[in-house]
Amino acid sequence: MFRRSVSILLFPGILLGALGLTLLGTEIGLARGVVVFAVVTAAIIAIAVAERLIPYRVEWNEPRGDVRTDTIHMLVNQLGVGRLFEAIALGALVELSLQLTDAFGRELWPSGWPLPLQLAVVIVVTDLPRYWLHRLSHEVPLLWRFHAIHHSTERLYWLNAGRFHPLDELAHTLPVVVPLVLLGAGPEVQALYFVHSGVHGMFQHANIDVRLGPLNWIWPMAELHRWHHARRLEDAAANFGNNVALWDLVFGTWRMPAEQVRHDGVGLADRELPRHFWGQVAAPFRWDRQDAA
Ligand SMILES: [Zn+2]
Repeated sequence: MFRRSVSILLFPGILLGALGLTLLGTEIGLARGVVVFAVVTAAIIAIAVAERLIPYRVEWNEPRGDVRTDTIHMLVNQLGVGRLFEAIALGALVELSLQLTDAFGRELWPSGWPLPLQLAVVIVVTDLPRYWLHRLSHEVPLLWRFHAIHHSTERLYWLNAGRFHPLDELAHTLPVVVPLVLLGAGPEVQALYFVHSGVHGMFQHANIDVRLGPLNWIWPMAELHRWHHARRLEDAAANFGNNVALWDLVFGTWRMPAEQVRHDGVGLADRELPRHFWGQVAAPFRWDRQDAA
């Protein structure tokens, strides 16, 4: 009974708590980056503890020589790729945003709307291009070479949320950051979005026995996302949503069979990729030279 209650309440409880703390932090004047880092770090601790207390699969808690690689991916993507993008393009985007505001003679972002509504708009709008980019990353062979790094993991746990090829990560960052900056979204809604995305992304991959029931129609969480990581390709061609299940529902790729991914597990069916970070970064460029498993 206790485990069942935790399975149902853990994700919505931690997500709402994280968003509430984010609001509090920005309202007392803390910098956006500090608030996002502190709240996401607290969520990581809670998720890592929950993986031990109510694991979805006990054996997925055993490291397979992947923790070091996934940690490097997480640090490179979260600290490196984002900062590099900011250094190269943020100034020009902000300038363009000011020119757009001048041209239209008004603020483009509806900053007077309630923050939960602004957050919902950001999530729904940015998830549409991300949905198609993700779907095409599975359907276009050249894009798949890069996205396959994310799918090469043989177990699901929270740190998989960071395992992306840096170019794949950059491609998935652009549809979020460009519209947010161009439209002039305020620091509060940006902080709320990045906390939502971070907490949801880690829960999506976490080895926690979550049961969301009807909330699976809103969030493409672990029960859906495990199917997306299924080794069998026909199972994996579904649930492309990043922060919201809406676009999978609209385009007919929402899928949650009654049985969970237990058949032949998660990972790549047709090849084995290098296990170390630099091997994975190089993998898309030496794709044809790698032996298919
Ligand atoms: Zn994918």
